[in-house]
Amino acid sequence: MGAAGANFVAVRRITIALDGYAGCGKSTTAKAVARSLHYLFLDSGAMYRAFTLHLMQQGISVADIAAVEAALPQAHIELQLGADPEQRHVLLNGENVDVEIRMPEVSGLVSEVSAIAAVRHLMVAQQRRIGAQKGVVMDGRDIGTVVFPDAELKVFMSASIDARVLRRQGELERIGQHVDLAELRANLEKRDHIDSTRTEGPLRQAPDARVLDTTALTIDRQVEIVLDWARELISAPVSPVRDETIVAR
Ligand code: C5P
Repeated sequence: MGAAGANFVAVRRITIALDGYAGCGKSTTAKAVARSLHYLFLDSGAMYRAFTLHLMQQGISVADIAAVEAALPQAHIELQLGADPEQRHVLLNGENVDVEIRMPEVSGLVSEVSAIAAVRHLMVAQQRRIGAQKGVVMDGRDIGTVVFPDAELKVFMSASIDARVLRRQGELERIGQHVDLAELRANLEKRDHIDSTRTEGPLRQAPDARVLDTTALTIDRQVEIVLDWARELISAPVSPVRDETIVAR
């Protein structure tokens, strides 16, 4: 039967890039979207945080760019990407650092570290390798602009600073970290400023990104919106020849 008359449904695996300001619920949304679609979820911020922790453990100052660059090949960062949340871990040189990378000391330094070009080049190369097979939801700051400029779905998330502070506080409390609200606010504002103004891979809305303001949205609702966008693209009619998988109905 010719393709024109066939009753085909094309199963297309896409790349989903979620970028935006600190604390808008990017990772929570990305994780839930990936779970629903059976996609890989990659929290790119965890990689920058793990490398920042490595520098702190080694006593390397972020101002010493040569030492930071020399430390890059020494930091073995592994993201275990199991489908079950219990199997998802960040390892730094073989040690589980899930909790340590969320410490305020790491949050306080990570944006300075992430602004260093050599650090970004290495992380971006690793992220591209992990996402090369498609079927991935990646959250960060430069995913839709630098890492996967061809991503089929790009979402730029924002929310009011008050909403973001409260959300981040809730997330940290769930992992047993109690933080001062004023400190938290200062940290989010500082990171947004450094992330948006750096030369290499700054936080920018990609021209073809869909904007999602999550200030007044529940997590369930924001996940639903992104899933609707994703499903619309996944099921859009495409030429069977270009598709990876064709399933006859
Ligand atoms: O996503 P999260 O808030 O954990 O990211 C921590 C920091 O890592 C960000 O503030 C930013 O400095 C850096 N980052 C980045 N590029 C990414 C992801 C995170 O520069 N793609």
